[in-house]
Amino acid sequence: MEITALNGFKDILPEEVGLWRQVEETARAIFARFAFQEIRPPVLEKTELFARSIGEATDIVEKEMYTFADKGITMRPEATAGLLRAAIERNLLAARPLRRLFTIGPMFRHERPQKGRLRQFHQLDVEALGCASPLIDAELMAMGSMLLERLGIKVSLEINSLGCPNCRPAYRDKLLAFIARRADQLCADCRRRSQTNPLRVLDCKNPECRAQVEDAPSILDHLCPDCAAHFAAVEMGLTDLQIPYLRNKFMVRGLDYYCRTTFEFITNDLGAQAAVGAGGRYDGLIEQLGGPKNTPGIGFAMGMERLVLLLQQSQEERSAVSEADVYIAALGEKAVAACLPLAHGLREHGRRVAMDYEGRGLKSQMKQADKIGAAWVLIVGDEELAGGQAVLRDMRTKEQRAVTLDVAAIGRVVGKE
Ligand code: ATP
Ligand code: MG
Repeated sequence: MEITALNGFKDILPEEVGLWRQVEETARAIFARFAFQEIRPPVLEKTELFARSIGEATDIVEKEMYTFADKGITMRPEATAGLLRAAIERNLLAARPLRRLFTIGPMFRHERPQKGRLRQFHQLDVEALGCASPLIDAELMAMGSMLLERLGIKVSLEINSLGCPNCRPAYRDKLLAFIARRADQLCADCRRRSQTNPLRVLDCKNPECRAQVEDAPSILDHLCPDCAAHFAAVEMGLTDLQIPYLRNKFMVRGLDYYCRTTFEFITNDLGAQAAVGAGGRYDGLIEQLGGPKNTPGIGFAMGMERLVLLLQQSQEERSAVSEADVYIAALGEKAVAACLPLAHGLREHGRRVAMDYEGRGLKSQMKQADKIGAAWVLIVGDEELAGGQAVLRDMRTKEQRAVTLDVAAIGRVVGKE
């Protein structure tokens, strides 16, 4: 019996890898401009790390983690906790007052798989550690915007503030009172959440709950003076950098560790999976995880599956990238044998060459050449072979010309170095 992949775990196939690499390479180039360094923490961490950082009453910790119960270890559902653990444990925070780190890799969450939502998915994750200035918040959002713009992906940037331990409790009480008056109109999840994590009621996806909280008090009207000043400075920074953004008072983010600035990059082109990336500030977290006191931090993560889907959608033609410069259609046994060293010679000259060794008919080989997007087809039959000649066909213009069967001569026509 055939064994299939796990539900929600996807093979990234050869024809998709080009786009994945494009995303990764663009990200690395942009992160380098902002002086971020790469770090690669492991995929498994102690369960406690996630419970303590992400928070017990979050969707991720409550129901989405892959945990080996008997060993107390968990496959990372996000990158921030592990990256911070590594930065603290390996003493990376002492070396520079502001440490800029990024990591790229797979994350694991037990969710219901759908388009743009998998159980193993990949994130680009960046974290700026040690800087309390609102300017770094603006800078990070600008970096995310620059990356998306470079990839040709259109999003809107939405921002909010979650306040801090000084101002959030009073807001929370106000919100609780508001929710209590509507409790019987809310979904079961929200009624439960209102006990454990009432802010989460604001971002319930259920349309009826949405309607109920439409006129809920906004945290932006309840920030303490420091948080309000911070938020104003972030907005000023974004304006100075000419980064368009929208305020979204309902954005609360599903992780406990956030304070002050939170933000999301939102697309209209992926149905329900609207968030391409998201992040926020987490000023108390490093200390809470045993790191140096008063070390603030801010970061964001982008979902690579969603970026790749958007690229596929927006550049259908680019996803059909050519796999080869030239396809060699050798017709018949002798031609096949003669073309083996020819293909090798062209490859040594830096050309991308595709060929199969079946010696099938011309029609079926032309079809194959078309499928892999070869720019040229070199047609070699036994007759041509005898005369040391072949036919070279330009797949774009459909023009054909005779060429000598010689690596240098063919190489000159079929490609740029
Ligand atoms: P969502 O609201 O879509 O569940 P989230 O708030 O859980 O997202 P974060 O934890 O902030 O997501 O992760 C950052 C980014 O990682 C998301 O914006 C999204 O692009 C991506 N992401 C999160 N979960 C998944 C998943 N299960 N499959 C694919 N991508 C994901
Ligand atoms: Mg989620």
